[in-house]
Amino acid sequence: MRQPELLIPAGNMEKLCTALLYGADAVYVGVPGLSLRASSAELSLNDLSGAVSEAHGKGVRVYAAINTFARNKDIELIRQILPGLMDTGVDALIFSDPGLIRLIRRINPVIPLHLSTQANTTNTEAVRFWQDQGVKRIVLARELPLKEIGEIAAAVPEMELEIFVHGAMCVSYSGRCYLSAWRNRKSANEGNCTHPCRWEYVLHESTRPEDPLILEEDERYSYLLSSKDLCLLEHLPDILATGVSSLKVEGRMKSSYYAAVVTRAYRQALDKLLREKEKYRFDPQWIEELKTISHRGYTTGFAFTEEKILETSPQIKNIQTHEPVGMVLACDKAQKRMLIEVRNHLETGDQLEILLPEGGNVLTEAVMTDQEGNRLQQANSGTRIYLHGDMEVPAGTMIRKRIG
Ligand code: SF4
Repeated sequence: MRQPELLIPAGNMEKLCTALLYGADAVYVGVPGLSLRASSAELSLNDLSGAVSEAHGKGVRVYAAINTFARNKDIELIRQILPGLMDTGVDALIFSDPGLIRLIRRINPVIPLHLSTQANTTNTEAVRFWQDQGVKRIVLARELPLKEIGEIAAAVPEMELEIFVHGAMCVSYSGRCYLSAWRNRKSANEGNCTHPCRWEYVLHESTRPEDPLILEEDERYSYLLSSKDLCLLEHLPDILATGVSSLKVEGRMKSSYYAAVVTRAYRQALDKLLREKEKYRFDPQWIEELKTISHRGYTTGFAFTEEKILETSPQIKNIQTHEPVGMVLACDKAQKRMLIEVRNHLETGDQLEILLPEGGNVLTEAVMTDQEGNRLQQANSGTRIYLHGDMEVPAGTMIRKRIG
């Protein structure tokens, strides 16, 4: 059984550290102006150098995404940024525009190249074509079922194949979409998707615009364009049987808390599967954990069928049972307290869960003081407080509470 890496999105330095703490084998990051996620999910080149050092110190690889579809006006910027980007020590570049291969190779003939899923690679001959161009890894099209993925892996075993296993899906084909540019003048193909497929739509009959027709999927709206999220956690044995090299989680725009919960669930399942092989049994608690975070209902996407159209979500609002309330900055074992950064409103007596990176959650009741030692009845997002309790957890550990 091939041991694939667990590849986690790292939209900023904190998310990268969270991914490292909760068990990523590799992370992918954006570069200003060059990735398919706009600035809130990118690191500066300076930050990226630090991120690479931090990750490499823990044996974790870092891939930088420059997977924009470049226009002529973008080429000079890319040409200028590439040398500094290579100097950061990233382990590979993720790209989708074939024009970038020439630019990259002139500057660095050996840096590994990963072809983005947006290049829409769906067959063995396309994989061989990209292999001839010097590509080391291909992120296969999301539309491929596991059966075809296994066929490609068997036919071109020397090519590293990466697939998405978790995260938001969209109704466009391989992420190529003009909806955001059309509705909001921000193009998904340039990294600026504003997700209009998740907006609320109604149908108007032309002579009665004041009387919208509601296509009911729930009591108010129809969500024809809004896909459920992908989740293949329960199908890791089938996925590993295909021979892929990398299991990718979507979501550089998502929170550190999201990164913690998803990374931990996949890490635990993957480790158990690799350790126990045929004796492996799925632990339902892992999927329960994934249901605690904000999601739009889960689907297996195209994994088991060639023709399946993405299931849309009947929920306009994301579903979640818990929300993050803070992150541990430091533990003071002697004083039996933790310095935490509050990320949500907290009140004395709130029932909290501390998400241990190695697995399991510690339940505790919120007993809080400010940094001068004064008892607090409540704390607001953005403040730093002490949470009292006799436990020792690493900095970066996430804390949450149940909602609803
Ligand atoms: S608008 Fe929706 S369908 Fe289009 S790229 Fe963005 S997320 Fe995908």
